[in-house]
Amino acid sequence: MEVCIVAVGTELLLGQITDTNARVVAEALAAHGHSSRLRFTVGDNHQQIVWALSEGLARADAVITMGGLGPTQDDITREAVAAVAGVPLERDEEVAQRIRAIFADRGRSMPSNNLRQALVPRGARVIEQRKGTAPGLLVPVGRKLIACLPGVPFELEDMLDEVLAELRARDDRPYVLGSRVVRTWGLGESRLAELVAERFDALEGTETTLAFLASGIEGIKVRVTTRAASDDAVRARLDAEEAVLRELLGDYVFGVDEDTLETVVARALGTHGLDLAVAESLTGGMLASRLVAVPGASAWFRGGVVAYDPAVKHEVLGVAAPRVVSEEAAREMALGVRELLHASVGVATTGVAGPESLEGQPPGTVWIGVAIGQRSAARMVQLLGDRERVRTYATASALDLLRLTLAGSSRGLDPR
Ligand code: ATP
Ligand code: MG
Repeated sequence: MEVCIVAVGTELLLGQITDTNARVVAEALAAHGHSSRLRFTVGDNHQQIVWALSEGLARADAVITMGGLGPTQDDITREAVAAVAGVPLERDEEVAQRIRAIFADRGRSMPSNNLRQALVPRGARVIEQRKGTAPGLLVPVGRKLIACLPGVPFELEDMLDEVLAELRARDDRPYVLGSRVVRTWGLGESRLAELVAERFDALEGTETTLAFLASGIEGIKVRVTTRAASDDAVRARLDAEEAVLRELLGDYVFGVDEDTLETVVARALGTHGLDLAVAESLTGGMLASRLVAVPGASAWFRGGVVAYDPAVKHEVLGVAAPRVVSEEAAREMALGVRELLHASVGVATTGVAGPESLEGQPPGTVWIGVAIGQRSAARMVQLLGDRERVRTYATASALDLLRLTLAGSSRGLDPR
């Protein structure tokens, strides 16, 4: 369905509060397969609210208002909705009773103002108020709907499911909803959007939508949402769309839904019957920690050495390279830890976490080494940000490079 959101509140227009409700409602609509191409924010002003409701009804199947259901004189959403629906407001005794009960429970006397909240447009259905005193309203207008939610965020969230259920009940065809998150690492957001742009446009007007979610250290996710007549049909659509995205994005896609870089590495090691040891300098155990977080890690994770002091790199891991942030050092660390811990694969991180430079190299310079048997290779990545960010991204980069190498990708390393 096409749904228009109308946020009511002069304080929103003045920038005194942020419209977090719109985010919550819009996200819920998208997740339930509705589209929302238009949104209004209006003040606590009868004419403005009436205007937004009328425009919204003309352009969408349903309008959701947020705010202005309170007991005070500036809360006038009810009146505007009744005017647009062309019906009178009538006292709903059940609602009035619940409001009285709420005050009685709190041992307070009820200001008569609060009974304004029991006024309901004729023909409307009430969404019971459980968190506050204002009920929500579902007001039919011809074949369309105005749904009214309170402005207080937790009251609004408590009633949102009922609005979604009503939208669904009004949909001509029953449907099943489903979504899948396709997860990527290594692509910038704009490059990813560019690669997917044509597909994104091709889906316009279909029941399948794509949304990009940039989530920093978790990489960029592409969420596919679709609706169809049955679970099987939904699954088939999601499978097909995942295949299209994998085709477009290649092995920048590392997994779907709950997959993480480390679970993908774990699966690859398992498939090949390999086990792993890590040598960490700037990541200081972060890599080992992410690997150990995978249930069943004992089947393929041997252990690690935090070789932070150059002397430890030389003495424990047998690194001969004099410069410890270098290709040779990363290779020798990977080879050294593999040998020391009797693993089939070794991975190493060495670099400059910052804020100071090291060996004349700027912060963010990171070498990642991989050793498989007697063969090894390393690659430099240049990372941006503060010390914490460099370290977390170095960890993710090492996992990514390892999974690409194990998969034989042309973007992986070629140990020799
Ligand atoms: P009340 O009974 O509190 O008057 P109401 O339904 O009339 O509720 P408003 O008066 O519009 O709602 O807003 C009440 C409070 O809810 C605001 O002061 C603000 O803190 C919060 N609020 C309102 N609208 C939004 C919004 N769009 N996003 C986030 N918070 C909001
Ligand atoms: Mg109010």
